[in-house]
Amino acid sequence: MKKISRRKFLYCSAAVFSTAIPFDPFWFLAETNVEASGPVDISGKVFKGDAPAKLWKWSHEGFLYEKLKKNRVACGICPNRCVLAPGDLSVCRSKVNIDGILYTMAYGNPCSVHVDPIEKKPLFHFKPESRALSIATTGCNFRCLNCQNWEISQAKPWQVRRYELFPQDVVAKAQSVGAKSIAYTYSEPTTFFEYMIDIARIAREEGIYNLWISNGYINQKPLLELCKVLDAANVNLKSYSDAIYRKLNGGRLEPVLNTFKTLHEQRVHFEMTNLVVPGYVDDTDMAKRMCEWILNNLGPDYPLHFLRFFPRYKLDRLSPTPISTLIRFRELAMNEGIRYVYVGNVPGHEGNNTYCHDCGKLLVERKGYLIPVYNLVGNRCKFCKSVIPGVWV
Ligand code: SF4
Repeated sequence: MKKISRRKFLYCSAAVFSTAIPFDPFWFLAETNVEASGPVDISGKVFKGDAPAKLWKWSHEGFLYEKLKKNRVACGICPNRCVLAPGDLSVCRSKVNIDGILYTMAYGNPCSVHVDPIEKKPLFHFKPESRALSIATTGCNFRCLNCQNWEISQAKPWQVRRYELFPQDVVAKAQSVGAKSIAYTYSEPTTFFEYMIDIARIAREEGIYNLWISNGYINQKPLLELCKVLDAANVNLKSYSDAIYRKLNGGRLEPVLNTFKTLHEQRVHFEMTNLVVPGYVDDTDMAKRMCEWILNNLGPDYPLHFLRFFPRYKLDRLSPTPISTLIRFRELAMNEGIRYVYVGNVPGHEGNNTYCHDCGKLLVERKGYLIPVYNLVGNRCKFCKSVIPGVWV
């Protein structure tokens, strides 16, 4: 058994009660070195509808877009392919066409800055017990009825309290708090791609890992660019049904499946999460088909997390997922042949632990975000010496 300090115990015990809302043991970050910019008044600027029609300090030209006739532009970052006339605001609410140029309006001004245990992402097979400086701006390219962070994902950059942190500042902040990685998370980082990639390139040079926590709804070209500096990802596979993607999330299934294939081809470590929303994502046959697709296209080694749903946002009248459903899905996936299957949002359940796929012995016991038992040596099982997929040391 590992001994832990009182400070660490409090840190991890508190964190276990917060999976949806960013847990912030380093809340003082926002009060000390980070410049808070408050609810922003941009009066004096010209508006067309809801979008600011002038540049401001946090505008940055889009990474990948096409110029069309009549000063219209088409964003190339995600499958929504927003086509914007001058003054129009994007579906993700953070990009705007100003005089025929596409700008992100959320560059260098994240609305969330926290330090999280990496296990919270969840990433169970990547640098366990390390800290991730976690950042988000507003914006999402989905409209999930059950969104856990809708206050920021469905907001516009100028509607929330924000901090000024340009890419170099984010990396410096990660270094100053001893974070091994920077996680682009909470909202949908694909929608702040320009900011993310600039941070990630600097972080890579400084030896800090980049973690992408995403819905996977991204085009291949920007994804390949991201993969050059990406160390790990957790991508939501929200369901294995295009109809449910359209109804529950406002997106489509196929682009997400393509993202998994690309990450696999690019040899980026990733883990998958499936939030089991009652009445939408709790169909056993669908879960079985999802597991078959994973095995046929990605193999048995990528960890799969079945997460418990709690009532949120527009689905606040649904009941939480019965734990029995999560247990059934975990057994189903393991029987199908996926080697590392977890249940999430159920503290203390044995499905939080890692067991060797070969000898079945306990490798990593998790109590909240604490790891009292750790039986890997390097990347191998201490007992049978099998290689355990992931990045452990
Ligand atoms: S990233 Fe935003 S602006 Fe670009 S296509 Fe997607 S939703 Fe539209």
